Amino acid sequence: MVTRDDRLREIGLWPRWTLRAQPRAAQVTAAGDGDGPPAADQAAEDGLSRVASVSTPGTTQAPAREARIATLDWERFGADVDACIACGLCRSRQRSVPGVGDVHAAWLFVGEAPGAEEDAQGEPFVGQAGKLLDSMLRALGLARGAGVYIANVLKCRPPNNRAPTPAEAAACRPYLDRQIELIAPGIVVALGKSAANTLLDNDATIGSLRGKVHAYRGIPLVVTYHPAYLLRTLQDKAKSWEDLLLARRTLRAADPAARGATGNPA
Ligand code: URA
Repeated sequence: MVTRDDRLREIGLWPRWTLRAQPRAAQVTAAGDGDGPPAADQAAEDGLSRVASVSTPGTTQAPAREARIATLDWERFGADVDACIACGLCRSRQRSVPGVGDVHAAWLFVGEAPGAEEDAQGEPFVGQAGKLLDSMLRALGLARGAGVYIANVLKCRPPNNRAPTPAEAAACRPYLDRQIELIAPGIVVALGKSAANTLLDNDATIGSLRGKVHAYRGIPLVVTYHPAYLLRTLQDKAKSWEDLLLARRTLRAADPAARGATGNPA
């Protein structure tokens, strides 16, 4: 029989009470927070240009672009993201990373932005943080692609894995909104501050947002730590597991027969 401790071990939460000294920066930062150079350095990093110019949100093109994205179906979605030049990240990306998984998923996990490995492979969460995310899914009785969809706030990699700028998040936002509309998940799990703040349209800390059920356009949304942060901050893994159980309870309460809502009892 699989015990609760087996499950905790599987997602890296065992032993439960191991507190290790963490560098101060790691304790206070969510994924991307403070990592990498400040946004002001972006222009210098983005020196290599694949396109002559980019179209930015807030320009006259923006409403038409948003309206077009809002009508995309899955067949056109990936190609549209691939062709996107709405912000400077299109210049430095190797591949766009639209998202992966079951397009009828009950569970939607939203991270921050692709890193180097995701940029190379075109799939979200394939690096170390992705391995932890996969373990978390397994512990819930889920698997990537089976009742689960994984997306990011940004579809292109920010240089040096820095946090998304507000302009980049705004430029990519129509894609995330459209994905959520197409999937119509039963629960959204925001992984880290970028995802939480983007989806909830606020600037609150993870600490103040987790442990509650929020809503994104009527869909229940639970906030938890980003897996990359958890890799550095072991003592918060137990809290993250509690957040995932809250998400599962919320999904089951809304729809006991929900797609992919199965798994082991909490
Ligand atoms: N971190 C994210 O937020 N997304 C990824 O796809 C990979 C790492």
